[in-house]
Amino acid sequence: MSKGFGDSDFSQVLSDRATNQSIQHVLEQDREQAEHARELQAKGAYGVCEDCGQKIVPERLEALPEATRCVACQASWEKTNPR
Ligand SMILES: [Zn+2]
Repeated sequence: MSKGFGDSDFSQVLSDRATNQSIQHVLEQDREQAEHARELQAKGAYGVCEDCGQKIVPERLEALPEATRCVACQASWEKTNPR
């Protein structure tokens, strides 16, 4: 039995891997969202909430340039699409 790779190390490796995967997943979603925002921009629909059609406040777009929903719609979207 080699030293330094006991059960606790092994579970550490597994949880590190899980963390990396969820980070990857989040990065992937962010990339897709940024792409989606660019598509809307190309259609001239950027800055308009894609759910309710209201204008997204400029402060929100400044803080989150890839936002495609207003604050209220984003909140309800995140409730139904948890990461
Ligand atoms: Zn909205």
